Amino acid sequence: MRFLLLATLLGLALLALAPQAEALERLHSYYELRDDTEALAAQYPDIAIYSEHGSSTGPLGLAIFSVDVALNITTLPEAELAALPTMYVDGAHHGNEGMASEAAFLFLQDVLERSTADPAYLTGKRLVVTPIMNTDGHLQDCRNNWNGVDLNRNYPWMWGLYGTSDTRGSCPASGTYRGPSAGSEGETQDNMALMRSLNLYAYLSGHTGSNDIVLPWKTPYESPDHEYAQVIADWTLYQRFLNESTNVSGLSYRDPSGAGESIAWGYGARGAVSVIVEVTTLQWVPVEDSTLRQELANELLMYDMAWENLLKLGGRPVVIGTGPGELTVRNDGWGAAYNLSAGGIILPRLEPGETATVDWHDSQLRYERILRNPERDVDADGVVTLEVGTPLPDIPNQPVPAVSPLAVFVVLGLAARSRIIRA
Ligand SMILES: [Zn+2]
Repeated sequence: MRFLLLATLLGLALLALAPQAEALERLHSYYELRDDTEALAAQYPDIAIYSEHGSSTGPLGLAIFSVDVALNITTLPEAELAALPTMYVDGAHHGNEGMASEAAFLFLQDVLERSTADPAYLTGKRLVVTPIMNTDGHLQDCRNNWNGVDLNRNYPWMWGLYGTSDTRGSCPASGTYRGPSAGSEGETQDNMALMRSLNLYAYLSGHTGSNDIVLPWKTPYESPDHEYAQVIADWTLYQRFLNESTNVSGLSYRDPSGAGESIAWGYGARGAVSVIVEVTTLQWVPVEDSTLRQELANELLMYDMAWENLLKLGGRPVVIGTGPGELTVRNDGWGAAYNLSAGGIILPRLEPGETATVDWHDSQLRYERILRNPERDVDADGVVTLEVGTPLPDIPNQPVPAVSPLAVFVVLGLAARSRIIRA
């Protein structure tokens, strides 16, 4: 550990001494990125845990590694960690898109550094980063996995509906083979198990090639004539997120070319704001006359924006006033909040920025922070409980300790209790 730290410091010192004119950075190999990611996490033992939660399909069984980031992560009870609003970043579902892995690594580095300087940067949130999804492909500079499957066509959401092939791809030729069945590949299954264990608010999946943002599926907004176009239920929220992304990064958005992408499952099944970020048009090209960080500067600003506004990615009612039997709440989120109730009449919808008064007969305000979540019936994701204190006036025999109504704790309800699949 100490050696790693010294080696890293020495490396940084040498880097600082290198003349700028000769700056030329090449992308990490699979092994370098694995080792550098483990060493990076080791520098922040209180807030970061490195783990290898999966392995590739091929005979090498290359580890799929992640870093999990939260305040006091080593001592935090499992259920509390699982309940934290989470942003998930992955890269290189396509093994030849290494710049996406570099973006994931640099973003991880930034969050760790900033959180150490100012713990408020991390308070109440969790970040999980998997720099390389397709580890066999990354090692071989190959789009597909060992089975010739395009992992980003293999997810069980609209699987095979459009933009996919039924023929196994070969390396290095590209392809869009969807696999023999939905979710057939080990890499896909590992990523789904990881994502299911998270209280997912945002999912940014890194790719390269077109330098823009990609929506989860064909939409009537971008592809009105497409046979399989479907609305995004939380489109108001998405639009706000996309506009903010464009403002900070200059990236525009579009519909995807193929079905069964990881982000389709991320939004469709997990109810997280999920997009592909095509971080650059470059693939395995050495970066000349600039650094990787300079090449990815705009995209990293977008990742920062998503992280810094994570808690707003859905409905977010806050209590701004109380009266006898009444709560006044304002939605500070970027999306609507649904089915708000503190023990009285249910308020079906509260728009972003809107203020409303609801009955206050319970010490908890319950609401749903996003519309899209078909797995909710199974594990109750998306239902949030806000502690709002004992109602005024006191209801007799209510064994609830008095809490200031303005001291607001957002606690995820059932999701924390049920499915914990830690790496
Ligand atoms: Zn890609």
